[in-house]
Amino acid sequence: MDEVYLDYQSSKPVDPRVIEEMMPYFHDRFGNPSSLHKVGDTATDALEDSRKRIAKFIHADADDIVFTSGATESINLALMGYALKNKKKGNHIVISEIEHISIHNIAKYLASQGFEITKVPVDQYGLVHVDKLERKLKDNTILISVGYASNEIGTVQPIAEIGKIAKERGIAFHTDAVAAEGLVDLDVNRDSIDLMSLSSNDIYGPKGVGLLYMRKGFRVNPIMIGGGQERGLRSGTEDIPGIVGMRAAAEIMTKEMPSEVSRFKNYRDKVIKRVLQDVPDSHLNGHPTERLASNAHFRFDGIEGESILLSLKDKGISVATGSACSSKTLEPSHTLIATGLVHEEAHGSLELTFGRFNVDSDADKVIEAIPGVVAHLRTLSPIYTCAGR
Ligand code: PMP
Repeated sequence: MDEVYLDYQSSKPVDPRVIEEMMPYFHDRFGNPSSLHKVGDTATDALEDSRKRIAKFIHADADDIVFTSGATESINLALMGYALKNKKKGNHIVISEIEHISIHNIAKYLASQGFEITKVPVDQYGLVHVDKLERKLKDNTILISVGYASNEIGTVQPIAEIGKIAKERGIAFHTDAVAAEGLVDLDVNRDSIDLMSLSSNDIYGPKGVGLLYMRKGFRVNPIMIGGGQERGLRSGTEDIPGIVGMRAAAEIMTKEMPSEVSRFKNYRDKVIKRVLQDVPDSHLNGHPTERLASNAHFRFDGIEGESILLSLKDKGISVATGSACSSKTLEPSHTLIATGLVHEEAHGSLELTFGRFNVDSDADKVIEAIPGVVAHLRTLSPIYTCAGR
């Protein structure tokens, strides 16, 4: 059976071209950039060359890039690092209700350390309204953190507008751009972004690598203390094969993003149109237009997302019920709840995300499979029957 993989948001295969570029750095060019000999110089050259080239991917200066072990670490360095460095200026931080769980958990920790956290609500499509955000800002606000796009429902936020307000008010602006990278042209200057977290795997690079963009003048305290690598901001021997891989992935992405995005939009729009048309009592979660090209997120009245996922799994189709980071808990997605859904509605949700290695027939296969699966599960559902449908 040919597997159809429609869960690119939770994990992506590393592009074979990326693996090819990484390979020499495991054995032939294995050096440590901290060493002063020739073998070390080769590693330093690879590290600094990667920094320069990856900076172009986000239209940034190479000096403003700090390599990390992934998005979670970048987010920790941005939020905790900035909060601790700037606590004398103020202790108020503003985030949105639909941030990734890592941001919510760091915010909870910072609250326990005396910071005041305000969460801006979103509308029914998961959109942050800039006027609402602006009303939450205070004289002691030091940091705003709003994700570029939702990794769950795909809603893309008005990042440039938020950045403009932050800049006018002299507040640092961090965005977790993990869900948007590879699908949106990320430009830290156009969008007035001061801190931005990225992961390598989300652009088909290896897992365990990421970066934090940090604009000059927006300093953070290190959270990893040790040998002082990355200008003292992130101690620990640099993962040169991983960093080279992330650089290679970013360069491939720069070239291929325009055509990929238009291909994904075709899949997305076709799947959304057909599912809403062919399945009664089905709804789209997230914004109808301000959404990632790769994301289709539905809810079906009267049945559970998990049952649909398992039925599709039997047919060789891999999908998600929501955020993979919390799919093993029974808690409904905080993002869906923030858009105003009740628990049963949130549980009836299904997320499909397209990626580089999907082919046209993958969209067709899921369009064919969903109506039958939903109809069958509804025959077994007491909730759907009780609703008198
Ligand atoms: N932010 C978003 C939007 C995510 O989807 C994820 C998970 N892929 C993370 C942050 C954390 O990334 P990682 O687990 O790679 O550190």
